[in-house]
Amino acid sequence: LIDNPAYNFDFKLVIVGDSAVGKTHLLRRFVHDKFDHSSMSTIGVDLLVKEMVVNHTWGRIQLWDTAGQERFRSATKRYYRGCVGALVVYDITKHASFENIPKWLEELQFNDTHPDLRVIMIGNKSDLDDQREVTIKEGLEFAKKHKLMFMETSALDCSNVDNAFYTLISNVHETS
Ligand code: GDP
Ligand code: MG
Repeated sequence: LIDNPAYNFDFKLVIVGDSAVGKTHLLRRFVHDKFDHSSMSTIGVDLLVKEMVVNHTWGRIQLWDTAGQERFRSATKRYYRGCVGALVVYDITKHASFENIPKWLEELQFNDTHPDLRVIMIGNKSDLDDQREVTIKEGLEFAKKHKLMFMETSALDCSNVDNAFYTLISNVHETS
């Protein structure tokens, strides 16, 4: 990546959560504004970059996507180093993916992320409300207890995806 002196900010964000919760689709939706129906697997670590305006300033967001075979503690330090913001994702139709959120929070904490890491928890696949296993109330209570930002999203119908990323990014921007 080439450093551009015109940037007012350059934030590194990371997205974590169980396999198949929709991390890659959320990132692609935010960066490219599309939902790719073909199967996608992330081999190793994938980096997506987006230039954007936040609070009237121009800068760059680097988004690191995780490997396909997510295993706790297996990620490289390089992947987390210097991250100022994180999206921790579960699937509202898979209660187990919500139960694993504390392990992902630990994973972030015990790696080289920024000491003032900002975290948003995301309950993805809100379009599948009929298959819901995690209530909004459960999500809200967990977020409140752990002082996390929280939102339900759908990478399929687009709802709240931009909102979730902007909420995290503007929070990082305000505290940087
Ligand atoms: P990852 O392993 O966390 O990166 O998950 P992927 O982004 O590869 O998505 C896993 C599966 O969930 C794919 O079949 C996607 O099409 C599907 N998926 C992702 N986001 C959504 C969503 O918001 N709603 C629905 N219905 N399916 C989704
Ligand atoms: Mg993926």
